[in-house]
Amino acid sequence: MRLFRIGAAVDAEAVAHAADSGISTLVDARRDELLTRIRDLFMDNRLEVTPANLLGVHAALSGNSPRLARKLTLMRSEGRAITQEWLDVALADGNAVRDLREETSALMTRLGSGLDSFANAAKNARSFTGKYQNALEEHAQSLAQPDIAGAMIASLADLTRTMIERTRQIEEGMRKSEEEACALRKSLERAQRDAQIDHLTGLPNRRAFEGVLERQYREAQAAITPLSVAFCDIDHFKRVNDTHGHETGDRVIQAVAQVLARISNENCHVARHGGEEFVMLFRGMTIREAHRLLDAARAQLADRTFVNRKTDEPIGGVTFSGGVADVFGYPDPRAALEAADEALYRAKHSGRNQVCIAG
Ligand code: GH3
Ligand code: MG
Ligand code: MG
Repeated sequence: MRLFRIGAAVDAEAVAHAADSGISTLVDARRDELLTRIRDLFMDNRLEVTPANLLGVHAALSGNSPRLARKLTLMRSEGRAITQEWLDVALADGNAVRDLREETSALMTRLGSGLDSFANAAKNARSFTGKYQNALEEHAQSLAQPDIAGAMIASLADLTRTMIERTRQIEEGMRKSEEEACALRKSLERAQRDAQIDHLTGLPNRRAFEGVLERQYREAQAAITPLSVAFCDIDHFKRVNDTHGHETGDRVIQAVAQVLARISNENCHVARHGGEEFVMLFRGMTIREAHRLLDAARAQLADRTFVNRKTDEPIGGVTFSGGVADVFGYPDPRAALEAADEALYRAKHSGRNQVCIAG
């Protein structure tokens, strides 16, 4: 009966092992297929392999972002190329960004808690092997004394020493794992900081801005200090891209970012909202003061003329339009942002190169 049970257990183990390897073959095949599809999309469309592109294409092809997946399927069914421009716009879209943000933050949380428990396990195992090693060392010393024991005991002492050496090696391995876990934690923190920065302009991105707005809204509400938001959008920017190419367009975005960054300080927060749009937060100044500050930046940019670095052709003037809104004039920050966007729309329709106040 006992033997039969052992036999049955071994059989069950073998079956479980066979099932496991079947599942892992399936998982490997799916992983392989996803990687091939991601690679093909990058190669077919000559996309740059950047973290943002990888995250976006992965989210679309893995189905993590159904909205992005639908957009991509539509483009492909129409036989249209997935350009960097299209991908930037698709990724900047609110819901797609939210999908990605949720995916990234879930990943970060999982990775973070995984690292915590790994580091703890490594630490516990290390302290356990340390204690075990001390006990073995004590026994080895008494066993090795010839007046207490004979040759057999001496050989047992040898064996024990071998075990001591092995536990020392385990301890060393654990220490290395602990160090690796610490290094991983630092990389994760760096990645989290990176995820808040727009890589073209070096400005904080929309995700970072939303965090700052949420925090400053609460603080300004408690301290009863004024708070304004603004949207800026480069005028006729499509023309720059169409006439001088995407690369020159990128440099124009960087130049506008620099002009706006110059007025940024602890009371004025500037971020790239996406595409050729920027979003700003002004603290501790009236809406008129915020308007004056932004309008001065607008005038400064309008005074400059730009040249295409590659061809030396003049690009001419680059201007932006803006809209400012008093946050506490609206039920919540989202409504204030919408009002700033409407004011921007008014600035565009009143001839561009100007900043309008909402309401
Ligand atoms: P308006 O004055 O009404 O704002 O006109 P516009 O041409 O600036 O606006 P439109 O929305 O028609 O075009 C914006 C263009 O910006 C479309 C998109 O291809 C381009 N774009 C978005 N993001 C980037 C980017 O990161 N780099 C470059 N070079 N172009 C971008
Ligand atoms: Mg725009
Ligand atoms: Mg524009």
